[in-house]
Amino acid sequence: MLPGTVRAPDGSERIGVFGGTFDPVHVAHIVAAVEARRALALDRVVLVPAGDPWQKRGSVTAPAADRLAMVRAATDGIEGLEVSPLEVERDGPSYTYQTLEALSAPDRRLFLIVGADVAATMHSWVGIERLPGLATLVVVDRAGDQPADGELPPGWPGERVSIPRLDVSSTELRARAARGWPLHGLVPPGAVRIIAERGLYRGDAGAGVG
Ligand code: ATP
Repeated sequence: MLPGTVRAPDGSERIGVFGGTFDPVHVAHIVAAVEARRALALDRVVLVPAGDPWQKRGSVTAPAADRLAMVRAATDGIEGLEVSPLEVERDGPSYTYQTLEALSAPDRRLFLIVGADVAATMHSWVGIERLPGLATLVVVDRAGDQPADGELPPGWPGERVSIPRLDVSSTELRARAARGWPLHGLVPPGAVRIIAERGLYRGDAGAGVG
């Protein structure tokens, strides 16, 4: 067990699962993962970049391998955070229920971490009806998006985790990068390096190559 965590009385591992497009990963992603781990005494939080984020087709800019590399670089050395290539390596659209099924184990309790904006729209996900049987829902605050409880998926009461509100989004960061504006402080240093080295998010980058 990792230092600073509390093992559940039944001895099961407590694993947070935090999916996203991470196009690019930014500081609010890291804060959300770290704070959810602290607040819920999770053994670890696994960040899972989507291979084919089917609901964002047409707006994804960086290839999946680059998004995975950025998340790996951004979480390097942060206690309790891990990255899984599961969705990047799986063919077809990235459905969360399949990811949770793949990560399920008898002695493991899964916590699906989402931002408040995602919680409000996840009723449209393929396989949503299977999720309550696979994981506890954890909703983290997001600056500017505070849906009422009534907008959470019905029949799936969620835990809410309050995090420092960081009004940053990947969409804005792609726009900044395309203008040649700096990303320092908004994107973790390792990911900034990858963006520069691989020439991601330049104004001439094509969309839809995710
Ligand atoms: P985009 O602007 O391209 O839609 P994004 O910034 O929302 O991207 P995603 O990779 O789609 O980033 O988000 C992954 C997860 O992180 C989602 O559950 C989302 O709600 C959450 N998240 C993203 N940004 C924030 C933020 N600023 N505060 C809290 N949660 C966030």
